[in-house]
Formats: sequence, C-alpha cells, structure tokens
Amino acid sequence: MTTCICGCGEQTKGGKFRPGHDQKLRAAIEDAAGGLESLRVIVEKHIGRAITTAKTDE
Ligand SMILES: [Zn+2]
Repeated sequence: MTTCICGCGEQTKGGKFRPGHDQKLRAAIEDAAGGLESLRVIVEKHIGRAITTAKTDE
C-alpha cells in the first residue's frame, strides 16, 4: 500500500494519488501561490523560462 502524496494520509490503490486527489493537490498549490497567475510567475522564476500553452517547433 502507498500513502497518497496529496497529504490526506489515505492509502492509494497503487498509484501516487487517491482518485481525484491530484486535482485537490493542484488546487491547493494554486491557492497557496495566490492563484494560477501567481503560481505561473513563481514557477517561471524557478525554471528560468516562460510557461506558455503555445506550441513550439523546436
Ligand atoms: Zn490524497
């Protein structure tokens, strides 16, 4: 058995998360950052490049 990594303390059925808890964790991270735009700024600073949904031809 594996403990769900969202922090709920419940057991998974083999994956890293209980069903739906990946979304719960994503929402919690977004809230902690002060919203999606703030989260983007924080992560962009961390990785040193812009995050975009545009496709690139690299
Ligand atoms: Zn969980």
